[in-house]
Amino acid sequence: MDLNIDELIAWLARIGQPKFRAGQIRRWLVQRRIQSFEEMTDLPAELRTLLTAEFRFSPFEIVRHQISKDETEKLLLRLQDGELVECVLMRDPDRRTVCISTQVGCAMGCVFCASGLLGVKRNLKPTEIIEQVLVLHRMMKPDERITNVVVMGIGEPLANYQGLMDSLTFLTAKDGFGLGARRITVSTVGLPDKIRELAQSGQQYNLAVSLHAPNDALRTEIVPVNKSIGIQEILLAADDYFEMTGRRISYEYVLMSGINDQPEHAAELASLLRGRNAHVNLIPMNGVSELLMTAPRDPDTQQFLEILEHRGITATVRKRKGADIDAACGQLRLNRETGIPSRETTKTA
Ligand code: SAH
Repeated sequence: MDLNIDELIAWLARIGQPKFRAGQIRRWLVQRRIQSFEEMTDLPAELRTLLTAEFRFSPFEIVRHQISKDETEKLLLRLQDGELVECVLMRDPDRRTVCISTQVGCAMGCVFCASGLLGVKRNLKPTEIIEQVLVLHRMMKPDERITNVVVMGIGEPLANYQGLMDSLTFLTAKDGFGLGARRITVSTVGLPDKIRELAQSGQQYNLAVSLHAPNDALRTEIVPVNKSIGIQEILLAADDYFEMTGRRISYEYVLMSGINDQPEHAAELASLLRGRNAHVNLIPMNGVSELLMTAPRDPDTQQFLEILEHRGITATVRKRKGADIDAACGQLRLNRETGIPSRETTKTA
């Protein structure tokens, strides 16, 4: 996967193998559910041996594989340089959604998020992003298919813009993974220039903007990078995104008890978004062992939702999945790096 098709053909030529083997190898890697080069049964044995000798089948080692009661699966993966990332598979009756990471850690510093607590180490390479989808695809039952990808794992996708674009290009290519652009959602803290650049890519990716507060004073407390950007700039860039792609924008809003969950916050959020083609995704905060903030009580979340709806803003509360396996953003990696056990381990210990 690190080689493009021409590079793979050139490698094959050097060992005296015909061009068409490149297509065969690619099909095995991208579409089939095998775990080694040896299983590529329509290749000659000596080619399989050479592939095994010269390449690694996967860029990761699976450090941990958790399966939740609701059938959500989460992987903690070790990259070749020892760094850790996470990806998740979520099951709904008619969907299989994969959530992928784009960086090792994150530089945005959102105060409620486990991914950013240790800062950012590096960008993921396109292969390391693509392979998160493929590794989960290989684990699924034979009759299951991945229907959606959300770029909502560890990292700020638009801060690894080239890596993101290269991997999405492959995931949507007919001769790649073949997923429709409309089935892919990129979630961002809100980097205006990059939002416009994404719009100019000419693809209909969905955009989700992590807003979390209805005014700059509060947002800068919760999302420190907001200080140099500001909500208005982000909304204008998101409006441009909608203009250029026709895709409705989602605004994510993580609800934290006593911080951004009051009725006046809901009212202010409604005025901010009035007249925009927007959908609000309310996310009761997932607990992070290192942090004190918590989700509001259900009735408070409900009230927040109703205020938005009353004021004509469409909104939903995001369903929780994988709560019993610490499936939220960066928690497994954080627990591993800090030595603090995850809730799941605590329970079984
Ligand atoms: N950096 C990007 C994408 C990764 S985070 C972004 O900011 O959007 C994906 C989503 O998960 C974001 O909306 C983020 O705010 C949210 N998130 C992070 N930590 C969370 C937590 N502890 N509970 C609930 N949502 C969280």
